[in-house]
Amino acid sequence: MNNTHDELIRDITACKRCRLWKFRKNTVPGVGTLHAKVMLIGEAPGYHEDMQSMPFVGHAGRILDQLLTRAGLSRGDVYVSNILKCRPPNNQDPTSAEMQACTPYLRRLLNLLRPRLVVAMGRFATTFMAAEAGKQFTSISKMHGNPFDVMLRGHRIVVFPTFHPAAALYNPRYQAALDEDFKAMKTIIAEHVFRP
Ligand code: URA
Ligand code: SF4
Repeated sequence: MNNTHDELIRDITACKRCRLWKFRKNTVPGVGTLHAKVMLIGEAPGYHEDMQSMPFVGHAGRILDQLLTRAGLSRGDVYVSNILKCRPPNNQDPTSAEMQACTPYLRRLLNLLRPRLVVAMGRFATTFMAAEAGKQFTSISKMHGNPFDVMLRGHRIVVFPTFHPAAALYNPRYQAALDEDFKAMKTIIAEHVFRP
């Protein structure tokens, strides 16, 4: 399969593999430098993301920007995408049919970027990355802050699960946990990401 970034974006933009194409204004394939060694994966676009065709530009995006600062990163250092590339109506949870239809795009993205670190934000991204590692997802409360490895065609990726940034909008307890996790990420970044 041809798999340049341009081809991937083109395939996503034309995609009708699940019912969500009917509701979208735009697809939201992802954004960032193709040289990013850190990739962040969220859940699905929301209203503002769908309008602008850009991930994490609404409320959750502002929280994400603060969290990135804690990790010593900025948007220019990372690539950001989601499990689903189209917005579910009423921001419903992704269904397993939608995730099965859409995650081949995420796999193509992982193969293109070959990041050293994947930050899996929330239970859907963590469930997906755990499955890629042959691991069972337990709960995000148990798994957040505990890195694990995924081997991608001989390339080692460290996966770091966190709560979803939007969780901080609903409960300050999650804000504290997110702050701590993104701060803890600095060690992994120093040891694994920017090593030659
Ligand atoms: N929440 C997500 O999971 N992704 C976005 O792009 C925006 C909000
Ligand atoms: Fe295609 Fe994914 Fe959009 Fe479904 S969510 S239509 S699989 S791009």
